[in-house]
Amino acid sequence: MAAHQEKKNSEERKHESTQNNVQTSQVQWGRAWEVDWFSLASILFLLMFAPLIVYYFIMSCDQYQCSLTDPLVDLLTGNAHLSDIWNKTPALTYRAAGIYTLWVTFQVFLYVFIPDFCHKFLPGYVGGVQEGAVTPAGAVNKYEINGLQAWIITHVLWFANAYYFHWFSPTIIFDNWIPLLWCANILGYVVSTFAMIKGYFFPTNAKDCKFTGNFFYDYMMGIEFNPRIGKWFDFKLFFNGRPGIVAWTLINLSYAAKQQELYGQVTNSMILVNVLQGIYVLDFFWNEAWYLKTIDICHDHFGWYLGWGDCVWLPYLYTLQGLYLVYHPVQLGTANATGILMLGLIGYYIFRMTNHQKDLFRRTNGNCKIWGKKPQYIECSYMSVDGTKYYSKLLTSGFWGWARHFNYTGDLMGSLAYCLACGFEHVLPYFYIIYMTILLTHRCIRDEHRCSSKYGKDWNRYTAAVPYRLIPGVF
Ligand code: NDP
Repeated sequence: MAAHQEKKNSEERKHESTQNNVQTSQVQWGRAWEVDWFSLASILFLLMFAPLIVYYFIMSCDQYQCSLTDPLVDLLTGNAHLSDIWNKTPALTYRAAGIYTLWVTFQVFLYVFIPDFCHKFLPGYVGGVQEGAVTPAGAVNKYEINGLQAWIITHVLWFANAYYFHWFSPTIIFDNWIPLLWCANILGYVVSTFAMIKGYFFPTNAKDCKFTGNFFYDYMMGIEFNPRIGKWFDFKLFFNGRPGIVAWTLINLSYAAKQQELYGQVTNSMILVNVLQGIYVLDFFWNEAWYLKTIDICHDHFGWYLGWGDCVWLPYLYTLQGLYLVYHPVQLGTANATGILMLGLIGYYIFRMTNHQKDLFRRTNGNCKIWGKKPQYIECSYMSVDGTKYYSKLLTSGFWGWARHFNYTGDLMGSLAYCLACGFEHVLPYFYIIYMTILLTHRCIRDEHRCSSKYGKDWNRYTAAVPYRLIPGVF
């Protein structure tokens, strides 16, 4: 019996190491089973105000040259009423509805019907059918990783149209930006509501559903872990990684085309934003298989937070720098442009290398070299609910010896570079770095809370060995 248990444990340990050590008890991961008042208040706030925030930012550019204060001043001094602002806002149009429907349908087609061919000729690229992490109920989903291919096909068609076919103007996205916002909202709400109904009545994997009994919390944070239609249409991967992120670079290209149309040239700041964000987006697609093991896919359920967030928040607020530069075409001096480019590239390098070091370390179970040396680490263990003990390792070499979330630090440096490219005249383009700082700091705390309850005193040994979270010596 004991031998049997030992064999079982060693098999599980082996299994765990191949799955990036994500197996743990249901109580320790994913979203909560019970809602506290603070979470509920935050959720109600976001449900009510997030769509208004997006509208306010986009409207400020459309009607107030990207000033965030002028609309408020106008409203408070009686120069304008809410109805004046609303009446000047472009309505939903058939044209925008047609563009948006075509766009989403095309991305669904690329996602579902074109198996990946990039991995067959791109050395080092991991595509095709890949396994995700073990879900809390013990399921392992398979995914067709073909995002890079979808991105390439879409962009080839975009450039073919811009330089050869001329079916539509490359400014099409900018020209329909607010009517498209209504379409994105409709899709965001439809998909989140559908996901909620699906979670109740026909879940893909009933054992991976979580119900708190609180309607708003369940709607926001999701019930199903991995809702799917059929074998391959995975909601979380599709909405996280297709219509919004593939569009990100096209939206920026459309802004650049608008600058060209309005001013007869594209400024170096616009080129910087296009290049730096383009690298970030391409990195996402190149590493899509790795992305299956990140917190977004491994821990979050699919609700409004992801459904609406991916359809509206991401494409509209992550692209504010390019939108701003259409209204304020900043031409940077050579020294400033070089400095911002360096900051963006160094930030990207840190972000990528830190993620790579952890991935390599976990994949090889520590049998690798980090910065030319055998890695140092803290041995740790944790228990699952059935009392089985598991072993894991926390890396303390390379960037992981500098701070506990140096990947976030690199991400923040890159984010700051996009914002700095817009100069200092307005705060609107700085929304991204403010938002990312809040998001990633909150994520640090959320993740560390989870790791601390998972690893207990071993986590304390790790935090003693690597005392800072983001900036060595500071925080
Ligand atoms: P991480 O990739 O940092 O993963 C955190 C997990 O890694 C922990 O829960 C723990 O899991 C494990 N871990 C923690 N410390 C160590 C260590 N020293 N050695 C080995 N494993 C460790 O976090 P995310 O998934 O949040 O982020 C991935 C990337 O995505 C980041 O670079 C981030 O910047 C980026 N990102 C970008 C966003 C955007 O909107 N642009 C949003 C969110 C993230 P375990 O239980 O396995 O031990």
